[in-house]
Amino acid sequence: MEGGSKQWRFKVKKDLTSTASNVTIRGMLKKLNEAIDATDTRPTIHLGHGDPSHYPSFRTTPVAEDAIVDAVRSAKFNCYAPAVGILPARRAVAEYLSSNLPYKLSPDDVNLTNGCKQAIEVVVSVLSQQPGANILLPRPGFPTYEALAASKHLEFRHFDLLPDKGWEIDLDTVEAVADDNTVAMVIINPGNPGGNVFTYQHLQKVAETARRLGILVIADETYGCVAFGTNPFVPMGTFGLIAPVITLGSISKRWMVPGWRLGWLVITDPSGVLKEAKIVESINGCLNICSDPATFVQGSIPKILEDTKEDFFKNVIDILSQASDMCYETLKNIDCLTCPHKPEGSMFVMVKLNLSLLEDIVDDIDFCYKLVKEESVVILPGITVGLKNWLRITFAIEPSSLEDALGRLKSFCQRHAKKQ
Ligand SMILES: *Cc1c(COP(=O)(O)O)cnc(C)c1O
Repeated sequence: MEGGSKQWRFKVKKDLTSTASNVTIRGMLKKLNEAIDATDTRPTIHLGHGDPSHYPSFRTTPVAEDAIVDAVRSAKFNCYAPAVGILPARRAVAEYLSSNLPYKLSPDDVNLTNGCKQAIEVVVSVLSQQPGANILLPRPGFPTYEALAASKHLEFRHFDLLPDKGWEIDLDTVEAVADDNTVAMVIINPGNPGGNVFTYQHLQKVAETARRLGILVIADETYGCVAFGTNPFVPMGTFGLIAPVITLGSISKRWMVPGWRLGWLVITDPSGVLKEAKIVESINGCLNICSDPATFVQGSIPKILEDTKEDFFKNVIDILSQASDMCYETLKNIDCLTCPHKPEGSMFVMVKLNLSLLEDIVDDIDFCYKLVKEESVVILPGITVGLKNWLRITFAIEPSSLEDALGRLKSFCQRHAKKQ
């Protein structure tokens, strides 16, 4: 055998998860986790990703657990599902979302996906079919968009969110980066990573800007209804008559079951512009070749959406609201950190690092590596979500652990402060 000299044809040019400008959240957290000091006897506390499902305070409702068990035991959902999802589940999602909209969605507007992430993948795939097209993404944002667009060779450009204006969209930068090849813009509301909730007036301006540019709005509402400040959550679909909207969501965050992998891609476009442009057809085509969410999870959806009690949501919102208060108050008293906006939705807060007040820290990544080594606290460097020398912190963990973690963060900052 001449195995040693055989030239194979396959070779991977680059890792899909690390585009030129960023890495994925998972990739970064994996590296930080590898840096944990195994001799530290304290528990490691994870403030890096938004998955509170491990913590007793954030356990999902028994209504949802029972719905899954009943769906499995019924033996009605052991089959393959249609590409768009089973009708009762699509009907339930249409009802659930319509209750917050000025018009009524039909089950045909709803496509079920493997979490919101697959909904993003489908939309990016569809838009990548248009030669030369580009899409506009928020900065800071959710790096899955950049990674998926890069993997499908869809050009993306960034517009800014303004920290001093509650992370509102800088609509001037939207207009400035858009050109004749721009087809869509993405908004994330409630905000990840900013923890903000857009006002009705701001969303209306977003729709008017999209209309002027002739583009569609992709509204990532994974944190839909997870709002605990003064601004109520308003779905982008409210403005679907001004500009066409595709709404993405899932049960992952509001029900705290990200592992169940059930999301949706919904056509919130009462004028039918997307149908006319054959976008709807293209979405269906894409779903035909994708894998579907597990059928028994689809089978549980009507009960989960219709029977979950208001008490459950209220309790979660109260815990998140208190946790965000605790987080904000502690961060305010740490000299080297600035928190421009108190979170009022989602599970995150963005914090700016004042490097000039720190002695031996070169940037946000350095900060996070030293923090995990010395204090066993994992925080996400802002560069991962598009803002260098910022940090993204989640407050959706058990309140006692959050207090512990914030205490460790504070002593780390004091220890590394420049001596006056
Ligand atoms: C978590 C998250 C997603 C992915 O949601 P899944 O339902 O877990 O796939 C998408 N977008 C944003 C902004 C998120 O925070």
